[in-house]
Amino acid sequence: MTDLLQKAARTAAEFRTGLPERPVAARADVDAMRAAFAAPLPETPTPASEVVDELIRTADPGLTANAGPRFFGFVIGGGLPSATAADMLAVGWDQCAFNGVLAPAAIAAEEVAADWIKQLLGIPRTASAGFVTGAQEANTVGLAAARHHVLATAGWDVERDGLVGAPRIRVVAGEERHATIDRALRLLGFGDRVLELVPADDNGAIDPAQLDRVLADGEPGPLIVCLQAGNVNTGACDPLGEAADIAHRHGAWVHVDGAFGLWAAANPRTAHLVAGIEKADSWGCDAHKWLNVPYDSGFVFVSRPEAHAGTMSHSAAYLTGSAEQVAGSSFVLGSSRRGRGFAVWAALRELGREGVAELVDRCCRHARHFADVLATGGARVVNDVVLNQVLVDVHADADAVAAAVRQEGTCWLGATTWRGQRLLRLSVSNYGTTTADVERSAEAILRVAKQVRDGAAG
Ligand SMILES: *Cc1c(COP(=O)(O)O)cnc(C)c1O
Repeated sequence: MTDLLQKAARTAAEFRTGLPERPVAARADVDAMRAAFAAPLPETPTPASEVVDELIRTADPGLTANAGPRFFGFVIGGGLPSATAADMLAVGWDQCAFNGVLAPAAIAAEEVAADWIKQLLGIPRTASAGFVTGAQEANTVGLAAARHHVLATAGWDVERDGLVGAPRIRVVAGEERHATIDRALRLLGFGDRVLELVPADDNGAIDPAQLDRVLADGEPGPLIVCLQAGNVNTGACDPLGEAADIAHRHGAWVHVDGAFGLWAAANPRTAHLVAGIEKADSWGCDAHKWLNVPYDSGFVFVSRPEAHAGTMSHSAAYLTGSAEQVAGSSFVLGSSRRGRGFAVWAALRELGREGVAELVDRCCRHARHFADVLATGGARVVNDVVLNQVLVDVHADADAVAAAVRQEGTCWLGATTWRGQRLLRLSVSNYGTTTADVERSAEAILRVAKQVRDGAAG
């Protein structure tokens, strides 16, 4: 065991320290990896050390350097040193963060980390918290708490009686909401067609007057409004405070999907983007994106703990149980969980309030610099770079350029569709990205875009 875990740690450490110089895209594609892993079901045992050697050898060509400083695809983030080590310990300790009786350290670390996050983000400290796999689960749990509360207010016990025959719930969201909101609504029995959409402005944030108009245009009754902090394409944030005030005037529960955008609150220079965050009723957020904690790690906060536990607790322990029984799995979809709180606790302990602010600020500065260098090189920056996301038109087929840039290996980026146009999308969310990384990547993007244009012309 000792040799094996030391080897695993050494291999991970070599991989991580080599990231800045490793080609960012995987050397082998998924078909090559399928061929490499393909084998009949083993009939007999193999010594653990041979298994681990084989795994390392087989997987390495198919590993992407997404934890490295020049990965700008999706919204990914890296893994801070302390958080990575803490997550390795969480696996080594193999705690089951079910509740405080079973895993006292894991639950206590979650509770302290949750309180720190609430202070950093400006979420009421009385809110309940669940450590989830990511924002998809956070949105699902937050909206389940919303469903519980708006139906309880209408005199309906949804946990006991289900949705058949329940009062109708209206659900209103911005047209630029994340797809995980739709999936959460499907899982919760609402169906896609429940959604009433509020138009968004050019950068993807809703207009509060339009929200008011949509809300006024319907019967009074149970109502949920979904807002967003951090559009995956543009970084735009809905005007949370104003929108929450309007929604509450109409009697709504307000859920905020802030997978990465909520971290704007932790940086004094971007906090205005999410002003009024504290007015919402539930919040979903990720640690594995901008906080640079390894996958899978996110949070859900709910302003009314009784609605949170009322919908998630799998027994009546929230009514009768001790504090230990209520903690942990009473606030998430999972029952047996890894001790996710250790890595979050470690990241916050390593960075402190100032370090988190600086991390967010640095990524935003890099995003603006990226936009400036690309624009100087002739590209057209399409979005208002308010946060860490940049959309660019390099006057060439965006998908072809993205694929060619990945092939070239300097950096990794993807293409997206924004307002009917295919564009390159850059997300700066890694703690290790430097100005030199940004400039080297921008140069590679411009050079490859020219090659694609010349190739298309020739
Ligand atoms: C990434 C993201 C999600 C989904 O988060 P997961 O951590 O992948 O579950 C939801 N909403 C927004 C705005 C996101 O950026």
